[in-house]
This record gives sequence, C-alpha cells and structure tokens, in this order.
Amino acid sequence: MRNSITQALDAFRNVPCGVHSIDINGTIIYMNQTELEWLGYTEEEIVGKLKFSDILTTDGKEKFRTHFPELIKTGKLRNLEFVLVTKSGDLLPSIINSNAMYDENGSFLCSHSFTTNIAHLKISESKLKAQDILTKTITDNATVALFMMNKEGICTFMNPAAEAMIGYTLEEVKQKPLHYMIHHHRPDGSFYPMEECPIDRALPENFDVRAHEDVFIRKDGTFFPVICAASPIFENGMPVSTVIEVRDLTEQKKYIAEIQGKKLSLEILNSIGRTISGQLDLQVILQEVTDATTKLTGAEFGAFFYNAINNNGDAYMLYTLSGAPREAFEKFGMPRNTAVFQPTFSGEGVVRVDDITKDSKYGKNSPHHGMPKGHLPVVSYLAVPVISKDNSVIGGLFFGHSKPAVFTKEAEEMVLGVASQAAIAIDNARLFEDLRTANNKNEELLTLAKESDRKKDEFMGIASHELKTPLTSLKAYTQLIVNAIEQKDLSNVPKYIYKTEEGVIKLERLVNDLLDVSKIQAGRLQLNTSVFDFIKLVNTSIENIGMIAPGYRIERIGIDVARVNGDRERLEQVMINLLTNAIKYSPDNKDIVISIKRDASVYHIMVIDQGIGIPSGKLDKIFTRFYRIDDNSQRFSGLGIGLYISSEIIKSHGGEIGVESKEGEGSTFWFTLPLSP
Ligand code: ADP
Repeated sequence: MRNSITQALDAFRNVPCGVHSIDINGTIIYMNQTELEWLGYTEEEIVGKLKFSDILTTDGKEKFRTHFPELIKTGKLRNLEFVLVTKSGDLLPSIINSNAMYDENGSFLCSHSFTTNIAHLKISESKLKAQDILTKTITDNATVALFMMNKEGICTFMNPAAEAMIGYTLEEVKQKPLHYMIHHHRPDGSFYPMEECPIDRALPENFDVRAHEDVFIRKDGTFFPVICAASPIFENGMPVSTVIEVRDLTEQKKYIAEIQGKKLSLEILNSIGRTISGQLDLQVILQEVTDATTKLTGAEFGAFFYNAINNNGDAYMLYTLSGAPREAFEKFGMPRNTAVFQPTFSGEGVVRVDDITKDSKYGKNSPHHGMPKGHLPVVSYLAVPVISKDNSVIGGLFFGHSKPAVFTKEAEEMVLGVASQAAIAIDNARLFEDLRTANNKNEELLTLAKESDRKKDEFMGIASHELKTPLTSLKAYTQLIVNAIEQKDLSNVPKYIYKTEEGVIKLERLVNDLLDVSKIQAGRLQLNTSVFDFIKLVNTSIENIGMIAPGYRIERIGIDVARVNGDRERLEQVMINLLTNAIKYSPDNKDIVISIKRDASVYHIMVIDQGIGIPSGKLDKIFTRFYRIDDNSQRFSGLGIGLYISSEIIKSHGGEIGVESKEGEGSTFWFTLPLSP
C-alpha cells in the first residue's frame, strides 16, 4: 500500500514545493526530493524511520499533536505554520496544507501534505519588524517634533516630542485639521485660514517646505516660534500624507536676543567710553551717560541727579533725563532725602529692587506717602551712586520700569562700570569748568584794570584842567593887585581880592571833594551827627547858592519842619551839590524847586530842575565815581565825583538816592532820610 501511495506522489518528486506523507502513527512514509533537500536528509535516513514530529521544534510538536487528530477527522488542514528542523539543526519556517487519505472502510490511511518554504518571507517580516522598531526608536527619541498629516490635514501620528511641544495628545489633536489645532491664528491675533498655510499646501501642490519659520500655538494658547519642514508622501502616485518636522525656536530666539543684547551693550559701553572721555561739557557728559545707561539696563526711564543741597536743605535742581519727558519729573519734584534715595546720595552703594511698591522702606515720607500722583510708574528700581575720586558722591543714576524684576545683576554691574567712567569724566569737566571760570575772572580783572587805568588818565586830565582854571584866575588877580599897588590906584583892589577869594574857595572845594573820595574809598568818611531841622539847612543852602547864582529862582515847597539825626555839614554838602548841578546843567531854564515831604518812616527830598536832562541809558551810572556824561563834559566843568560823594553820604545816613530824568526836559534828583526818633 505504501508503495502505491508513494508511487502516486512521485509525480511531485521535483516540484518546487515540499511533499510528504505520514501514516496513522505519524511516521513519514514519503518525502519528495525538494523537501529532502531543504531538510538535508536522504530518503533512506527519513522515510519509514523518522516521525513527522521528529523534524519539528518543541512548539511544533505540540501543535502537531493537537492538529493531527483533526486531520484524521476532517480530512484536511489548511495553512498551518510549522517550523521544521533540518538535519543540521537549522530552522525552516513553512506553511503546510494537508489532506487525509482513507480506505474503502473510511479508515485513515495516510496524509498528503504540501510544504511551502516561507523562510524568505520570515526574513522580510522580521526585517520589517526591525525597521518598525528602529523607526519607533528614532521617532520616540527624536528631540525634533514629528507630525504626520493625512490628505484632510488631520494628524495621524505624533512623536512624544511633538506631544510635549504642543501639549495635545494624538487623540485630542485628531479632532480637526492640525492647522486649526496649532496654527489657527497669527501672532498679531488675526485668523489664519488653512488654505493660506504653506505647510498644508505642500501635499496637494506637491512641494517640499524647507526651513520655514513660523509661529504655532500650544494647547494653553501661548504662541511659540518654530522652524519646520514638510514633505508630502505619495503612494502609487497619489498624495497620501505629509510628514512635518518642527523645531521649537524659543530658546534659540532667546539666545539670539541675549547675544544681540550683549552685542548692543558692548557697543554702547564702547561708544560711551569714547564719547565721554573726550568730552568736557558737563551737561553733554551727563546726558550721554543717562541715555546710555538707560538703554543698557532696559529701563523705561533713567535720570541723573546731582548730590547737591540748596540753601533750604533741599536736593539741588540739576539733572538729566532719558526716556521720559521733563514734566514727568517736574510734577514729582526733586528726589528728597527719603529712605529710598538716601543710600545712593550718602554713597552707601547700589540699590536694586524688583518691586519698590512692596519695599518696606518705601512710602514713609510725607507728603506723598508712596508714589506721588502723576509720577512715573516705577516698580523695578535701580540706583547707582556716581563717586568722585576723592570719594565724594557726585550724584546718582536712577532707573525705573513699570514692570517688576527688570534690572539684572549684570545690568547693575554695567551701570557701575559706566558710573566710574562717568565720575572721571565729570571730575575732568569740573576741573576744566573751574579753570575756565578762573580764566574768565582773570580776563575780567584785566579789563577792569585797563578800564581803571584809562579812567585814571582821563581823571588826571580833567583834574589838572579843573585845578588850572581857578589857579590861572588867582594868578591873574594877584598880578592885578600887585600892579594896582605899584601904580598906587587901589580903587579896584577890593574887587580883585574878592575874585581871588572866589578862586581860593573853588580850589578848596575841589581839593576837599578829592579828599572826600579818598576817605570814602578808605572807609573813613565819619559822620558828626546831631539832631537838627533839615528845613533850616535847606534854607541856608538856598541863600548861599542864590548869592553865587543870581538870576536863578529856587523855590522850596512841602513841610516846614523836618527833624533829622545826621551830619549837618555833610548833608549841606549834598544839598549844595544837587543845587549846584541843577543850576549848572540848566543854562536856559532858571526855575528850580525843592520839595520836602514825609511819610511814616522817611523824609523825601527832591531837587527838580528843567535843564538839559540825562539820557535814560546813563541814569544808573551817574552816581559812580568819576563818571561824567561825555556829551556834556566839554560844556560844563566838573570832576564827576559830586554825585558819588552825595550818594555815599546819604547811604551812610541810612537813606536812598536816585534820579528821574528825561533828556531835554529836566531832572529830579531825590533822596530820603530817616525820621529822627
Ligand atoms: P560833575 O557835575 O562834577 O560832572 P557829578 O557827580 O555832580 O559831577 O555829576 C555827574 C554827572 O551827572 C555830570 O557830569 C552830569 O553829566 C550829570 N548830572 C548831574 N546833575 C545833573 C542835572 N541836574 N542835570 C543834568 N545832568 C546832571
């Protein structure tokens, strides 16, 4: 029987699949050449000798034991996988299809089985599995976020980095197109339609997106900068999905901003160094320093205040500002010596506060009690003293920001650096300023010296001329007297003697005036005071002047008694001087008025003439020593000291003196004298 079966099967001897038969005991009763070759046995070694379970793995033996009765019963087994063990022990994965053969009584005779070698399939499968594991390992561990999006734009895959980046799980993100999950708005708040997104267009339009910078949105609504690439995937020429690779640029951008900030700081530091070291103008230095440090610290506003105290004990007004209008500080007034400012001005050191509104030192000073109304909204506060090389505090640099914790330690150190450079520049500028002031003073003194030299020469000219006139007439009348005596005609002698006396008086007055000037200069003008009636003095002066100036009408008006406590002679000298001038400078109109009034504390005395008057530009000068109005000096004799002496006398009596005049219309000289107690 075995032969007849095996003969029938021999037709399959060399087909490219395995063929074998086993009997009811599981013994192999036939195996074709192909399967023998796969297993490395000869027909003699296997047929009738080995059971089918002998060429199976342990698992396979178990499987065979359960399935063999089924074959006997049902007559067939389909696509059962077994791993055959070759003679050399290698494993041969295979799929076996079996049919049962029965005799006429229906008893099982044997099986006819066809074996398909699936070793190559298994290799591909395991390769595929390995590939899968590799892909998963890569995507799971990738730091870059990976998304896969189908034709509808729905996300079908995310790696853990992607989930961490956007904060959604794959389940959540699948709800709608990925674009509407993480890319729905632009950073400016405007809606971002999917059709405009280059990442979503990559698939339908078949192009790769490379190094595309954009801004995505996390589940919590925050925006974050990214760089991404998108590649469409095609299957059989049909676009099926897009792979998107996304990198979060937040850190990188922060880093770049930091680097740029550092670069800017260096540039500022460099430029400020150059600018202020070559600068001698204090205001320019302070402005430069304030501007640069405000930028360096990232402050919204910065200011430099001098550490100076005015007479009232308040902080001094000089300051420079940056980032805020001056009015903002003017509303505020000066930084007072409050607990907040005090450490800076007293040189204790830097004050850096993240939130000054929460600082315990803050807000204790009246009248503001905290932030003054309309004051700049300072929350972050930084103050750095600027200290001179002699260790005195020149001032302070103050910075503010409306947000908390803006000023870093690094910013503080940079400002300290600039502050020390600034201190040197300020010291230099101050030295230069002192030098310039001293120079200017020297020049002023030199001009004054020259001027006084010129005045002295001028005075010498005038004085010698003034002295010469009476001397010449003295000499002439003396000669006339001598001649008269020689000729024994004495009729004119009394007149000549009178004239010589006039000359002597004139000379005496001139010399006395000059002596008075010297006394005033030396501070030796002494007063012989007594209480007397000033009106009487005025009357006497009018009489005396009237004698030497006939033709002038001098009228006195006002009160009749004026008790003063003063030097009678000196005050008479003043009256005579004012009356002499009134006459001298009124050649055409001979009416002169003296008005005397009193109020609660003083007498007001006025000498009013209607003479040539005084040009308005010269009114304030005529009381100075040796001053004469140029235009008049040829026409009228004089030394230019009468008014100077008069004003000194009046002032030494505690009075005031002045003039009102209009050129061509006359002058009113006035002075006051305190009432006698
Ligand atoms: P002097 O009369 O000797 O020049 P004063 O000191 O008395 O010196 O006066 C100074 C100058 O003031 C005079 O040179 C004259 O130009 C002007 N001055 C003084 N008094 C009068 C006056 N009453 N009217 C006009 N000019 C006057």
